[in-house]
Amino acid sequence: MSVIRHDWTTEEIMEIYDTPLMELLYKAATIHREHHDPNTVQVSTLLSIKTGGCPEDCGYCPQAARYHTDVDGNDLMSVQQVKAQALRAKSSGSSRVCMGAAWRNVKDGPEFDDVLEMVRTINKLDMEVCCTLGMITENQAARLAEAGLYAYNHNLDTSEEYYKEVISTRGYEDRLATIANVRKTNVTVCSGGIIGMGETPKDRAGMVAALAKLDPQPESVPINALVAVEGTPLEDQQTVEIWEMIRMVATTRIVMPQTQVRLSAGRTEMSREGQAMCFFAGANSIFAGDKLLTTPNPDVKEDMELFKKLGLTPQQPFVKKAQPETIEAVHSKLETLGEKPKWSRPAHHIARNEAAKNKA
Ligand code: SF4
Repeated sequence: MSVIRHDWTTEEIMEIYDTPLMELLYKAATIHREHHDPNTVQVSTLLSIKTGGCPEDCGYCPQAARYHTDVDGNDLMSVQQVKAQALRAKSSGSSRVCMGAAWRNVKDGPEFDDVLEMVRTINKLDMEVCCTLGMITENQAARLAEAGLYAYNHNLDTSEEYYKEVISTRGYEDRLATIANVRKTNVTVCSGGIIGMGETPKDRAGMVAALAKLDPQPESVPINALVAVEGTPLEDQQTVEIWEMIRMVATTRIVMPQTQVRLSAGRTEMSREGQAMCFFAGANSIFAGDKLLTTPNPDVKEDMELFKKLGLTPQQPFVKKAQPETIEAVHSKLETLGEKPKWSRPAHHIARNEAAKNKA
């Protein structure tokens, strides 16, 4: 069994990333088989429970209010709407529902209470529940855990160095602080990033090193290929080549052997053969549904056809960790603290973000 290391250097990871492809694939696939069933892939459904109008300036994101994109914003969905979508996802083979809200950070109050109710509802459907709601405090993480949350997603996005070129409204340390807050509970951590934002291979390796240093390493690492959306600062970025995606997946698999590696955004640009190579390289999760928050994604029927051709089966829920218990709101022992944490606001100047904001 390969050893879990937390002392990876960026240079070591770059060396892995640059290994001749056949050797890289062989190594990654061997490690993959030691820790996972290679014929099983988890299918997750991503639901945008609150879309658009976000105050942050993430250069890749069409939901940032300051950029001129055609995302139609909507208020928080109702618990009933979420339940209906979760049931639909379950019937088409999803074992996990990930709920995303375009918030900078969670604020205590009726909307968060609704999200907690959504978590309870989906956990009771015997599906893994994940949330991505922005930055959260220790108390909010504990309340989510009490409701039955299985995973919390908070991506590092890229290396600490390149982060400053993409986002100016919060710092890398805020990301790490939220992950640390989640780690104080029994909720698992989902954290990964995006390639194709203009970063160097060193930045990619730097991000993998930052994730690998976390102890324990994240249970789930999504690898996204940028979907360049018109109106965002990164609208002109070239689509990443499939080879880069395969290398990134294989490198992540080698450095974080036990992690569930997620082939996330950008699959519409990948051939079926390319996706199959990613599965061979160690990807063992995908997002299903025709939309990934706001960007296109392959239809679930196409995914199931591909699974059939490759002899893959969707992973059952709670294979990696037992189902959390749900504590009803009336029995909660946790108070709403109404905290106002001081998350950073570096506000440094990113020329392309400013240009996209000021575009007529
Ligand atoms: S990525 Fe999240 S935090 Fe950043 S602008 Fe989009 S919705 Fe807001």
